[in-house]
Amino acid sequence: METLRDRLEAVRTRIARAAERARRDPAGITLLAVTKVFPASAIREAYEIGLREFGENYVQEFETKAPEVGGLEGARYHLIGHLQSNKSKKAAELFQVIQTVDSPKLARRLDEMGRPLDVMLEVKLSEEQAKSGADPAELPALIEGVRACRNLRLLGLMTMPPWSDDPEPSRPYFRSLRELAEKHGLGQLSMGMSHDLETAIEEGATCVRVGTALFGKRKRA
Ligand SMILES: *Cc1c(COP(=O)(O)O)cnc(C)c1O
Repeated sequence: METLRDRLEAVRTRIARAAERARRDPAGITLLAVTKVFPASAIREAYEIGLREFGENYVQEFETKAPEVGGLEGARYHLIGHLQSNKSKKAAELFQVIQTVDSPKLARRLDEMGRPLDVMLEVKLSEEQAKSGADPAELPALIEGVRACRNLRLLGLMTMPPWSDDPEPSRPYFRSLRELAEKHGLGQLSMGMSHDLETAIEEGATCVRVGTALFGKRKRA
């Protein structure tokens, strides 16, 4: 039977090959293990074989798992799902990175918690994408708003293209995100998932968010 260790090795090989094709250093690409829907034991198991960065979509779901992963030294948790401002307090307590900041108001709410947080801005690049995410036209004001927050450190941009089985339709979205980051002087790009991580790396991803390829199919989204 295929183990998590086997799947991790396969994902690392995919990352390394894509980086080589793109003439990039694979050390510049963070593998974020997306553990939504899986139990806390999945986080522990992944931690034991060397993973340190974990992605969760729902504040409430992670709140129930957090007590079980408390002692994992060096582990960092990224919120990659939409954050409602009424959950920002909880989110600031539970996560070290919020990848889905999409309004100056949400940034201010997170900042008010007084904890240092790394943040990324979720960008919505098409009408087909999920409702969350900032419009590219709103980015200058959003960036200014985040930079005014003393507890927030702005790392870069995040996006999720419309779903497709084929990785190639994601490419123009990844490219647009990279161009936006360059335009605004932002260094990091969170883009690419199990099915399109190679395309994302070719287009400059610094963080790929991988769930299914590591942990298998989820029972619910
Ligand atoms: C679930 C999810 C992922 C991981 O997707 P897989 O296809 O399982 O790799 C990545 N990013 C976000 C925002 C997600 O919600």
